Amino acid sequence: MTITRFAPSPSGLLHLGHAYSALFAEASARRDGGRFLLRIEDIDFTRCRREFEERLMEDLGWLGLVWEQPVRRQSEHLDAYAAVADTLRSRGLIYPCFCTRRDILREIEQAGGAPQEGAEGPLYPGICRGLSEDERSARLAAGEGHAWRLDLAKALETIGPEPLVWRDLGRGEIVAQPERLGDAVLVRKDIGTSYHVAVVWDDALQGVTRVTRGEDLWESTHLHRVLQALLGLPVPEYHHHGLIRDESGRRLAKRDEAEPLGALREAGASPESVRARLGFGE
Ligand code: GLU
Repeated sequence: MTITRFAPSPSGLLHLGHAYSALFAEASARRDGGRFLLRIEDIDFTRCRREFEERLMEDLGWLGLVWEQPVRRQSEHLDAYAAVADTLRSRGLIYPCFCTRRDILREIEQAGGAPQEGAEGPLYPGICRGLSEDERSARLAAGEGHAWRLDLAKALETIGPEPLVWRDLGRGEIVAQPERLGDAVLVRKDIGTSYHVAVVWDDALQGVTRVTRGEDLWESTHLHRVLQALLGLPVPEYHHHGLIRDESGRRLAKRDEAEPLGALREAGASPESVRARLGFGE
């Protein structure tokens, strides 16, 4: 049974880009007679607000989307994500990183200013990976602020030589290249967990068989594949969708994508017209 989900973060109003993503996920499930879930990804308490969650449900309902109950709200499951981090920590697969952004820049400059470029900017140069156990314990005991990073080399050694692959409905069989993200942060200093941990855990827990999401998250999937291998989780198929298109297959301009759904609704647009505009007319 195909199970898809739309997993917005309630950090602002939904716009046409989100609506496209939600309709895409729903249509993908419906085509296979499958199930469609909505998940609220609100672990980032610095940005997410309950009123945005209410608004987004209203907007999605107005669009005609129907999702299963109960809706999983990630902020209610922080203990589950902490347990995932504990598992990785006890296996020595994550290490505390005390660096500030400035420490990282300084290290890169001192190393000659030519950082190893990753898919999403310079890769972490590994400063805290090499700390001794004594120094680590002393700094943790002193309460120094820290994140926890994946020790990618160790993770890949643990996983073994078989390539990590996933099937992408848009692009075919993909070999994961987690070195594109390097020693990524899995437990953020500010929120105590991360998108990567929460999303991989929840997709497995909820039995999501097909992860549909925008191409902007393509790079993260390389890392998610590593986490699935480390944690022994099933690998869903993926479908990363590109820019949104209108019913005649033309790309919507960025500024159209950013149009808030609520504003369209208040201006008198019908749900049918919005669906049709996004290429999901009946
Ligand atoms: N919560 C993420 C976002 O709003 C999307 C998560 C996903 O689809 O994997 O960008």
